Formats: sequence, structure tokens, C-alpha cells
Amino acid sequence: MLQEVALGQKSLTDYTHIVGKEITERIRELAGPLKGKRVLHVSATAFGGGVSEILYTIVPLMRDVGIDAHWHVIFGKEEFFNATKLLHNSLQGAPESLSEEQWELFDEINAMNAEGLQGEWDAVIVHDPQPIGLRRGAFAKSKRWIWRCHIDLSTPNPAPIERLLPMIEEYDASVWHLPTYVPAAMDHKGVNIIPPAIDPLSPKNMAFSPEDAAFVCRQFGIDVDRPLITQVSRFDPWKDPIGVIDAYREVTERIPEVQLAMVGSMATDDPEGREYFQKTFEYADADLDIKILSNLNNVGAIEVNAFQSQSDVCLQKSIREGFGLTVTEALWKGRPTVAGNVGGIPLQIEDGVSGFLVNSPSECAQRCLEILENPALGKSLGRAGKEHAREEFLSPRLLRDWLGLLTDLDT
Ligand code: UDP
Repeated sequence: MLQEVALGQKSLTDYTHIVGKEITERIRELAGPLKGKRVLHVSATAFGGGVSEILYTIVPLMRDVGIDAHWHVIFGKEEFFNATKLLHNSLQGAPESLSEEQWELFDEINAMNAEGLQGEWDAVIVHDPQPIGLRRGAFAKSKRWIWRCHIDLSTPNPAPIERLLPMIEEYDASVWHLPTYVPAAMDHKGVNIIPPAIDPLSPKNMAFSPEDAAFVCRQFGIDVDRPLITQVSRFDPWKDPIGVIDAYREVTERIPEVQLAMVGSMATDDPEGREYFQKTFEYADADLDIKILSNLNNVGAIEVNAFQSQSDVCLQKSIREGFGLTVTEALWKGRPTVAGNVGGIPLQIEDGVSGFLVNSPSECAQRCLEILENPALGKSLGRAGKEHAREEFLSPRLLRDWLGLLTDLDT
């Protein structure tokens, strides 16, 4: 049986002062006819990464406006998650793919979860490739099926996408962050573009006083009187933690007192993360000014908030990036942000206006130096970034778009 995720309560009214009345009124208008509809979100994990981050807010907000919304997590085992991690990477272009045995396991676990899916639904929203096979086995349990893709499928390794495409096309609708993420070979019927969003009232993003942020960072050995650069992300090759360390080393040649914090959680569906954590740790070479922290050091949402709020520069030096919620989080905190010119990041940062887009560790270092040496520049980038995040990337906008889609699908 799939596991129901326990959720707190959220109220749309609390967001009005942040996003304005116009959008909250539009949400209530859309929600009226959807009252009482049973909507189920299904994902692979309730911990770590962007998908769970979004669901912890969007499901309670759907409930607040009258939808009978739920979130279930699939059952899996280590070999399954090894296979789906490989699938995730190969769908983003990595050359290796799943063996026939791994595909069999993939189908088997999906079939088992389909059987275990309880209840009757007006719409089931399946997140990402891990549970994509649910629809085949549980078709009759929902009136509508939607597949929500959080990754970039524009240049996949051909083998896995050939296998997945027919499954995607069987859904009534698919939802993507960007138009360019939709595989070229796909029939565009049912395709919807909805970028993700962050929750400005969650512990990770709520306003933190500079004193409180400094207090929390001090607990982790940060000298709050010296400059701090932070990257928050999983330990994953696409997030380029090694490039982050290279950039930091180049910055310290000119500003030796700079410190680097690398904060990364270990998701339960990410066994590769442990290995990459180790690699990053070794590459840091016992530099005391590089703090490598994770949930294993008790770094949770509040600490991520504190590090981002305290940072002179926030980094997201990704080589490949689905969207980059960490970028939104940094922008929302008004921090000058330097990030890879890939995936959903250029949608969030206009180069030189609301942050900097970079293509190499060295360029990253140069932009960090510009910001560290010119606080007025940092301030203006941060301010522009925050306003852009407010307009486009906060939860009420995402809720509005979901309600719009559920309405269009006549759920
Ligand atoms: N995150 C976290 N703790 C960490 C690392 C990441 O809470 O140690 C959060 C981060 O703040 C963000 C999400 O996980 O909300 C990552 O989403 P993003 O879109 O940046 O990347 P993904 O992990 O989905 O590829």
C-alpha cells in the first residue's frame, strides 16, 4: 500500500499580503466548481529535493480552497531507487541506461504500487518518472491522470525515452517546467507548461532577522564577520560541487577571508548522493573554511534559510538543472545569486539584472568577486531578483495554474 504523507494546515489568506489580492481572488474563483474533488499526488519520496518541497505546500493549499487533496508516496527498495536514479540521469542525457533486469524491476515495482493504490479519484497527479507506470496498473481508479515532469527531457539518452514516451502519452495531460523540456518526439497534445514555485511562508523561506540568521550560522562554525558564499543542493554531479570548490579557491586568491558553505541533504531515493558527498569532502581537502553540511549534521529547513539569508553570495553552479528551487529561494531572500546558465535558471535570473548567469567555475569566481567587492551591486541584483520571484515563482501562482489545469480537464 502507498503511504499517505501527513501534512500541516495552510491558509491562502496568509499569502495575500505577499502576492496581492488579485491572484488570491482568481484562485477562489477557480476553486469554486472544484470543491470536494478528490485529487491525489503521488511521488517517490517525501523527503529531500524539489518535488517534496513543493508538495508540502501545494497539497495543504489545495485543501484550504476546498479540494479533497492527498499525497501518497510509493513503496520502493534500494535496487529500485538505484535503477530510477540511473533513469533520472539517463533522461537528462547521461549515456548509461537501465539493464533489461532493471526495467523489469521498474515495471514490477510500479505494478505493485498500482495495485496498492487505494481509493477512487477525480485526478491523480503522478510526479516524475519513478511512479510513471502507475497509470497502466491503476487506470480505473481515477477519472483523469496527469504526469508532472520536474526534469529536463530535451536531450535524453534515446533508449529510456523510447520506453517512457508511450507511457507519458497515455496520460490525459503532462506538465513541464519549460517548453524546451518536452521531448521533441512527443505528440504535443495535452502538454502544459507550469513552472514550480516556493512557499514564502515555509520555515525555509520565511523572513529571518539578520541576527537570527547569524546566530544559526555561528552554530556551524561560520565566522559571521567574514564573507560567506553558499550553495545549497544535493551532492550530485549535475550540481557541480567540485566546480563550486574550484570557484571558491579562485575567489580566495583575491579575498582570502571568504568562507564557503555547501549544504546538501541526502534524499532517501538518492543512493548516489552518499558517494558524491564523499567525493566533495575529499576534494575540499580539509580546508577549515569549507563547511560541508547535510541533514546528517541536523541541517534542516531553518538552517538552509539561515545560510541563504546570511550569505553574501548564493551559488547554484549547476551544469544541468530542472528548475533550481534553490535559486528561487536565494532570490526571494534578496541575496545576489550566481548560477549556471542552464535549465530553468535563466527563467529566474536575467543576467546582470537579477543575478549572474555563468558557464564555468572561473566565470563563477569572477562574478562572486564583483559582488563581494561592490556591495551596492549585490544589493541591486538582490532587490531585482526578489521582485521577479514575487511576481512569478511563489506558491499561489502555482496553485492558480494547477486549478486552471484541473478545470480545463473537466475533472
Ligand atoms: N534542500 C534542502 N536541504 C539540502 C539541500 C537541498 O532542504 O541540504 C532543498 C532546497 O532548499 C530546495 C530543494 O531541496 O528546496 C532542491 O530543489 P532544486 O529544484 O534546487 O533541486 P533538486 O534537488 O530537485 O534537483
